[in-house]
Amino acid sequence: MSTTPAETPPGGLVVAIDGPSGSGKSSTSRGVASRLGLRYLDTGAMFRGMTWWMLREGVDVHDAAAVAARAGEPEILSGTDPRGPGIAVDGVDVSVAIRTDEVTSAVSPVSVVPEVRARLLELQRAVIGAGGIVVEGRDIGSVVAPYAQVKVYLTADPGARAERRAAEEGGSDLDATRASLLSRDRIDSGRATAPLVMADGAVHVDTTPYTLDEVVDQVVSLVEAVGERA
Ligand code: C5P
Repeated sequence: MSTTPAETPPGGLVVAIDGPSGSGKSSTSRGVASRLGLRYLDTGAMFRGMTWWMLREGVDVHDAAAVAARAGEPEILSGTDPRGPGIAVDGVDVSVAIRTDEVTSAVSPVSVVPEVRARLLELQRAVIGAGGIVVEGRDIGSVVAPYAQVKVYLTADPGARAERRAAEEGGSDLDATRASLLSRDRIDSGRATAPLVMADGAVHVDTTPYTLDEVVDQVVSLVEAVGERA
C-alpha cells in the first residue's frame, strides 16, 4: 500500500514527536502540550487500543489477513487533554488495559498491517483537525503530519530507556523490559509501511543526559523559534 498523501495542512500549530519506546516521547509531549496550552494525541495508544480490541475479539494477531479484515470495526475515541488523555474503544475506557504485557507484546504485529495503519491514519488526521496539538508516535513527522511546523526525533540509549519503562511499569524486570523494547524497535523500524524513521526536517534530541524538564525546555524553544520566524 502506498502512503496516503497528506491532507491539507491545518492552519494551526502541529508539533510532531517521534522516536522509539522509552525515549521520553510521552512525558515530553505531554509536558510541551501542557506548557503551551496545546492539545495532545498519543497515537501509540490508538495502536494499543486496536490491539486490545483484536485480542478481546479472539483475532490471531499474527494473522495479518485476519487483522486486516477487522481493522475497520472498532470505534476508537482518543482524549486530547495532556493531563489525562484517556482512550475508549467501543465505549470501554481502556486507558489502563492497553498497558498490559499482553497488549504490549501484540501491538507491533498489529501495527505492521497496512489496513490498520490506514484506518488509524484517518482517525489521527481527524483528531489533528485544525491543529493546536502535539502528536507523538513513530511516523508523525514522516507520514501523518509531514507539514508539521516542528518535528522532533527523540532517542535515548537502550539502558536509559529500559530503566524509564521499567520504572513506569512499577519496577518490572529490567532485562526483560530492555529485550521487549529492542524487539519492538526491530519490528517498528523494519516494517514496509510507515517505519520508524527520522523525518525530513526533524531535530534529533538524545534525551539520555537530560531531565524531563530540560527536554521539555528544548522542545518549547524549538516551537518558540518557529513562532518568531512566522
Ligand atoms: O508509543 P507506544 O510504545 O505506546 O506504541 C506502541 C506501538 O504502537 C509501537 O511499538 C508501534 O508498534 C506502534 N505505533 C506505530 N505508529 C505510531 C505509534 C505507535 O506503529 N505512530
